[in-house]
This record gives sequence, structure tokens and C-alpha cells, in this order.
Amino acid sequence: KMNKDLGQHILKNPGVASAIVQKANLKQSDHVLEVGPGTGNLTVLILKAAKAVTAVEMDPRMAAELTKRVQGTPEGKRLKVLLGDVIKTELPHFDVCISNTPYQISSPLVFKLLSLPHPPRTCVLMFQREFAMRLFAKPGDKLYSRLSVNAQMWAKISHVMKVGRNNFNPPPQVESNVVRLEPKVPRPQIAYEEWDGLLRIAFVRKNRTLRAAFLGTTAVVELLASNYRLWCAQNDIPLDDGPPDVEADTMDVDQAPEEEEWTGFGDDDDVDDELPDFFKEMRDNQKRNGVNRKKKGKVTELVREKIRKVLEDETQLSEKRARLCDEGDFLRMLYAFNQEGIHFS
Ligand code: SAM
Repeated sequence: KMNKDLGQHILKNPGVASAIVQKANLKQSDHVLEVGPGTGNLTVLILKAAKAVTAVEMDPRMAAELTKRVQGTPEGKRLKVLLGDVIKTELPHFDVCISNTPYQISSPLVFKLLSLPHPPRTCVLMFQREFAMRLFAKPGDKLYSRLSVNAQMWAKISHVMKVGRNNFNPPPQVESNVVRLEPKVPRPQIAYEEWDGLLRIAFVRKNRTLRAAFLGTTAVVELLASNYRLWCAQNDIPLDDGPPDVEADTMDVDQAPEEEEWTGFGDDDDVDDELPDFFKEMRDNQKRNGVNRKKKGKVTELVREKIRKVLEDETQLSEKRARLCDEGDFLRMLYAFNQEGIHFS
């Protein structure tokens, strides 16, 4: 009777449940958010160690079961169950988040938690193993990805423990790990959309040089050119967008032909998960903004030159590969692009 679509795998090992709660270092004054309490195996332990718990549960049957479990107990008064999808729910203020997370919402949950106006002090979250390892992967690790750079920009991430699949009922297909996220205080003053936009391009193929990532695809150059036109318009900078003085170079890069770029995701794990969506979005945006991918105006050539200047002269990162770049490299790049009026959102 478990609902597979909701990722319902009840934690049946009490030792694991109490270790998770212990790793949150709760104070008696803490307000805890629990995501997906299910039947409440973690909830009852959290209630013992904290002041109050808000539990967000999507399945009404589970919510009812949990409510019944604590009804009439002193703890019951300190628990509030919100019925709904945690991603869409407006959350109250809380100090700590604990979750045996339904795996399909892993990524949106992490970013919801990290982008709250008052981020929690600590989050102790169970994820499927590969997702957990991507969260704390370092440059050069096999699983280092856009998710790693993004999450580590806003939080200190540490590994807590491995949890085998037989600790759950029913056992999931994959192994799990518990990780701790401690949002940085103060929050780094950097625009999320800009940062993520740059990372999306850099990690399109993380084994490629940054030069190939930024200059090797007409779509990327056109996207940045259309952002540049917009930025100039907003800042009253006049632009001559006529035909180019000289016919633009074709591709100057170490890369596959462009058509492969649009369809060639498949086997290799160097490709960003959300890439198909990203390309679709990019194409839709370009259509909406009337950008013709084949167009080679002066602005496009100007932007191409700015990109080259940033990568080769300003940051000297053009031959480096995203899989080896650290946070400092990406920050330097973003700063240099922004200085040239190139924006990613
Ligand atoms: N916390 C319980 C435990 O450890 O035994 C259950 C964990 S189970 C992996 C995930 C729970 O999250 C399920 O009860 C499921 O109904 C709930 N859930 C799934 N998607 C959700 C969502 N978007 N928002 C809130 N709860 C969700």
C-alpha cells in the first residue's frame, strides 16, 4: 500500500533514525521542519529533542496516521502537520530541517532550503547515494557537477553516514547517504540566476574546455548576445547591430558539429542531468526573443570577442575544463563577464 510515486520508503531501523536526529545537534529551543514524515518514525524522536516540529506531508493517509500516532500525547501539541507538496508550501520559520527525503524532490528541496530568506542553521537530509555524493564532490571527482558547485556556494556540506537499502520498508532500488548542509552566514552576496546561468553553460560538457563551452556553440553565443542587447537597452548604451564587417569565422573549436550539441545526450555521465530542458528553454527563449541562430550581426561578433577576452586575457581559463574548476575560478569568470556587460540571466 506504499505509494511508489511519492517515494514512500519507511525507515524501519530505529538505530538509523536516532543517529539522524542526533546528527542534527538539536537544541531544546529549536523549531524543526520535517519533510515527508510518513508514519512518523523520525518525527517522534525529533519531538523529544526539540521545541516544535512542522511536518509537511503530501499523502493525506500518512498525515492522518502521523496525527493519530501522537494524538493525546504531550508531544502531539508541539507538532503541526501541513498537508501538501513541500516545494509549493510556504514554510514557517525554522532552525533545523530533517528529512528522509522523497528522492524525486532532492534537487528542488536543496535549493528551496538554501534560498530561504532566513535559511536554517542545519539540514540533515537523506538522499540517494549518487545525489549525496554529487552534493559534496570536489573539483576533479567523477561526480563533480553543477549541483556540487551550486550547493557548495551556499552551504558547507558534509557526509554523515551511509544507509543500506535494507533499512527501509520497502527497500528502494538504490543505496542512501545522509548529508549535513550548513548554510553559510552571511549568505554570499551573489545573484543566483547569474551564477547558475554561468554554471549551466560551463557544465554543458564538463570535460570540454571552457572555450569550447562558451564559444563552440552558436546557441550559447547567441544567448549571451541577446542578453547583452537587453542589458545595453536597459543601460541606454547605443548599439550598432548591422551586418558584420567581415563574415564571421565559423567555429574555431575542438568540438563536435553543432547539431550533435542539440541531441547528443545519452550515454556519457559527463552531461548535466537537466541539459535537455536547458537547451529546450534556451531555444524557446531565442524564438520568443526573435533570435535567429544563423544571424551574425555586429553585436554577436562583439560579444564573441568579449567572451574570448574574458576567457583568454582576463581570467586565462579558456583551456581549463569545468570539471577541474573550483568556486574561485567560477567567481572570477562571472566577475569578468559582468565587467564586460555579459550577463547570464
Ligand atoms: N520520514 C519517513 C521515514 O523516514 O520513515 C518517510 C520517508 S519516505 C522516503 C518520504 C515521504 O515523503 C513519504 O511519506 C511521502 O508521502 C512524502 N512525500 C513525497 N513527496 C512529497 C512532497 N513533495 N512534499 C511532502 N512530502 C512528500
